[in-house]
Amino acid sequence: MNCALIVAGGTGSRMKMDTNKQFLKLNDKEVVIRTMEAFDTNLNIDEIIVVLKKEEIEFFKTKILPNYRFIKPIKLVEGGKQRQDSVYNGLKALDKDCKNVLVHDGARPFVTQEIINDTVSKLKELGAVVVAVKVKDTIKYVDEEHNIESTLNRDSLFAVQTPQAFRYKMLLKAYEHAYENEITGTDDSSLVEKLGYKVKIIDGSYDNIKITTKEDLDFAYQILKRKGE
Ligand code: C5P
Repeated sequence: MNCALIVAGGTGSRMKMDTNKQFLKLNDKEVVIRTMEAFDTNLNIDEIIVVLKKEEIEFFKTKILPNYRFIKPIKLVEGGKQRQDSVYNGLKALDKDCKNVLVHDGARPFVTQEIINDTVSKLKELGAVVVAVKVKDTIKYVDEEHNIESTLNRDSLFAVQTPQAFRYKMLLKAYEHAYENEITGTDDSSLVEKLGYKVKIIDGSYDNIKITTKEDLDFAYQILKRKGE
């Protein structure tokens, strides 16, 4: 079984909003609903878990979900303080038959069917894959005073996105290990890497943005326009 774990339990702090940025509507459809629909319509996905802030679950259940129809059962799970806590809560709530898990940010509604299909097929082959794009800018490593210490080789640098996909047992082990050893990471792969597993980068898309700031919303509307919406 392939399970999609969508984390949407963050705050809209960088959007300078009080509400969850994923409840924002893009052309009459909430960001998180767009994300969920991408996985709902994908034939390789069997179960969908959506992680939300505790205080937003009721609102989502009564005011947003009833406006849409999903083919697959949707399980709602309470999030935690950091993204890592939200993913961990979601992992613990997955179906026991879930062999592979695709962790995806609820704030990335432009994930395509091609990316999901590619993630699932490469995951079967490799066991741990992360969607990413090559960085376009040159990246500098700096000290605390912002003096440049080195210039990194751009050919070896990728900006990671989601889905980040793993064998369920591997990811759960990585999360348990992280909590036992007080390790924190800003993505899932870093916790898996800490255990020494090999993780492979696969092709993402420059459109697969995480809607984080107001500028991202402008870009999101451009993407929708290009797609004919
Ligand atoms: O904060 P960041 O932009 O890295 O969040 C990435 C994703 O993780 C977002 O979709 C956000 O809703 C989710 N998240 C979460 N629980 C948190 C923080 C972030 O589910 N406590």
